[in-house]
Amino acid sequence: MDGSKKKIILGIVVFLLIASLTFITIKKYRYPPQKRFQDKEILIIGIDGFNWHVLGPLLKEGRMPNIRKLMKNGVYGAADIDIDDEHLWSPAIWTSMLTGKTMDKHKINSLYCIYKGKLLTFPMSTMRREPALWNILTRHRIPSSFVSFLATWPVEKIYGSMISCFAIPWAFIKNADYLGREDFFKKYGNPRWLTYPYELMDKVYSYIPPAEEIDEMMKRYGIPLSIPRERGMQEKEGHTVITEHLREKFLDSVHTDVDLSEMEIIGILFLSGQVPRMMFIMDYISTQLAVDFIRKKDTVVDAVYIGGVDIFSHFFWPQSKNPARDMTETMRNYYLYIDDLVGQLLEDAGEDTLVFVMSDHGYRYDFESKVTRHDQEKAVFIISGERVKNIGEIENVGILDYVPTILYYLGIEAEGMAGKILKNIFFSLPSRQ
Ligand SMILES: [Zn+2]
Repeated sequence: MDGSKKKIILGIVVFLLIASLTFITIKKYRYPPQKRFQDKEILIIGIDGFNWHVLGPLLKEGRMPNIRKLMKNGVYGAADIDIDDEHLWSPAIWTSMLTGKTMDKHKINSLYCIYKGKLLTFPMSTMRREPALWNILTRHRIPSSFVSFLATWPVEKIYGSMISCFAIPWAFIKNADYLGREDFFKKYGNPRWLTYPYELMDKVYSYIPPAEEIDEMMKRYGIPLSIPRERGMQEKEGHTVITEHLREKFLDSVHTDVDLSEMEIIGILFLSGQVPRMMFIMDYISTQLAVDFIRKKDTVVDAVYIGGVDIFSHFFWPQSKNPARDMTETMRNYYLYIDDLVGQLLEDAGEDTLVFVMSDHGYRYDFESKVTRHDQEKAVFIISGERVKNIGEIENVGILDYVPTILYYLGIEAEGMAGKILKNIFFSLPSRQ
């Protein structure tokens, strides 16, 4: 055999070796959940700003059947948040909830972040200094899916699937019917890091309904298509646009020539007055994607973030000292919509699934500054399932307790967590085998 032939054969051998190793890795990566996790399914429903001021009266009226069912089969109450008013930012609180660590440790402590000298709306996942639940599950080879949670862009590679917080907004604004902003998309093309795996983005696009369909759905639920003028929005040429005041405050100073920044995406959405539609449909699509992951049954933990309650609360919260009494129709209707989404998620989850409903804060109307602010009080939590004692309302549950409790349920040691394990809510645990 001459030298060149040897080289070719060697080349082929090396190629086959690499190919088979790659194949083994891929195959290993796609394995169904290990047996020891098969009866430990967990569903996490994160609802931003979900709170008892609205939920309580609706339950009394016999509404919210799906939430009621969860409450009946478990424990519930108002979560201790224990964060000062200055830091009650949703991405910061959610990061605490999903890392089990306080802000001084995970370092996500604002609504904004500075990236390459620019101010961006929402911190980036790369700024988080502590592992989140999805990282811990990945380390233990527990397959999971996470949909739309805040501060998850750029998306992280996990053992499972992840839809970052900007995947659905991106797909929504890419639908040029809304904005006529093809120039924007030509400039940026198709961004990576919105979903993991990357191909999931096609699925996200496929769920965006035509504009008329969204409007139709919103009308059916009694949810307004635009935001009231006095809350920072105004009508302009038939569209609701952000007022000059807010524009100055949030947008003009920050969103020029930032490459693919969240700020630009959010800025365009605001300027085009699409926020109510975007949030409404984001909640809908997040739910459909989560239902798909639950149905596939190859994950142990499925988690979905529903953000519309927060946006609608900021614009439609009653200007009242007694919000539970004076709640607006829009808020009530949005909660009824959320209950339908929760129903869809529960339909495909097994009877023995452990369900967490969690929220990050409540609201209060600030009469001095005339805006609705986040509040420590009345954030909802519900933990429900066959293995949870149905003892109703409980106290002393904090937002830092969720991750340690989830890990305990899965039989994993929690490391350095500030919260406590809610051992007493379970009357049995999945088998440790
Ligand atoms: Zn929030």
